[in-house]
Amino acid sequence: MNTVYLEKEYDYVKPKTLAEALEILETKKNVKIFAGGTDLIIKLKIGSPIEMDTMLDINGIEELKKVTSDKEGITIGATEKISVLEKNEDIINRFPALYEAFISMASISLRNMATLIGNLCNASPGADTAGPVICYGGSLLIKNHAGERRIKAEDFFAEGGKTVLEPNEIVTSVNIPAPAENTGAAFIKLSRVKADLAKISVSVVLTRENNLVGSCRIAMGSVAGKPLFLKEIGDGLVGKPLTKELIIETAEKISKAIKPRDGGNRTTAAYRIETSKIISRDALEQAWERSGGKLS
Ligand SMILES: Cc1cc2nc3c(=O)[nH]c(=O)nc-3n(C[C@H](O)[C@H](O)[C@H](O)COP(=O)(O)OP(=O)(O)OC[C@H]3O[C@@H](n4cnc5c(N)ncnc54)[C@H](O)[C@@H]3O)c2cc1C
Repeated sequence: MNTVYLEKEYDYVKPKTLAEALEILETKKNVKIFAGGTDLIIKLKIGSPIEMDTMLDINGIEELKKVTSDKEGITIGATEKISVLEKNEDIINRFPALYEAFISMASISLRNMATLIGNLCNASPGADTAGPVICYGGSLLIKNHAGERRIKAEDFFAEGGKTVLEPNEIVTSVNIPAPAENTGAAFIKLSRVKADLAKISVSVVLTRENNLVGSCRIAMGSVAGKPLFLKEIGDGLVGKPLTKELIIETAEKISKAIKPRDGGNRTTAAYRIETSKIISRDALEQAWERSGGKLS
């Protein structure tokens, strides 16, 4: 299927400035942004219902490639490739769950093309980076011709592979705040083979205050119509010591909160419900230990 030609003719534009890109988004109809193309081109080839008259390649816009780190956090531009981000020392050291999501994705050749923001904007319920970005409290900077807005990653996704983006908007960067002291994080994914989409994934970012949970954010991938942020379950752990019993109880709650469906070509709802207990237990344990906590 991947060898088929794109059936429909379209205009291809590659502006050098963000202002030009915003002008194109404002004035032309049916514009689709091309970052790495690893979702967009596949969808066009397999005949997904995409209305596209103009492909807007954003890779010529220098300012969208920037990655900046400081004590407040990290800001990642829209065109930086995942294969570059996975070698970024700041991401490896301060945001290990995001790093783990990166290296779980497909093959190096795909990661040479794919971008973090393309992964988020494609909005697959199984997008590997969505969970870590949500759990670290990340936010997306969105611009259009008239101005800009910032939206938390947890509010960015809508059911069915959609986002809150308007047709004239572009995500220019994602910002992830620096984790507090004694933060631990983990990302675990199950897939048929390594270079594959998730059958299910879990992300956890928690902070430890002495022997108690200070904060905890949990998200699951491939278990609902969008990346699933389980805010209440994470909040329910705050102020408690994270014991093995509490972890098992929490994993059980997670398995009841997810809404997986049968069908698709990767696995069944029953598999996802059963494995959600195991991977969420492992991720909570790992995150707690990485925060410096001891399990009792
Ligand atoms: C063989 C294969 C294996 C894969 N394996 C995985 C995997 O293991 N895990 C996983 O999560 N994904 C996987 N994917 C999916 C895909 O590679 C990722 O989602 C990737 O990160 C998409 O990034 P991109 O830059 O290629 O996006 P594109 O294809 O360029 O864009 C994706 C969508 O986002 C929109 N978009 C892109 N950038 C912006 C922006 N700045 N502002 C607004 N809209 C924007 C595009 O218009 C398009 O609708 C796989 C894909 C393939 C083909």
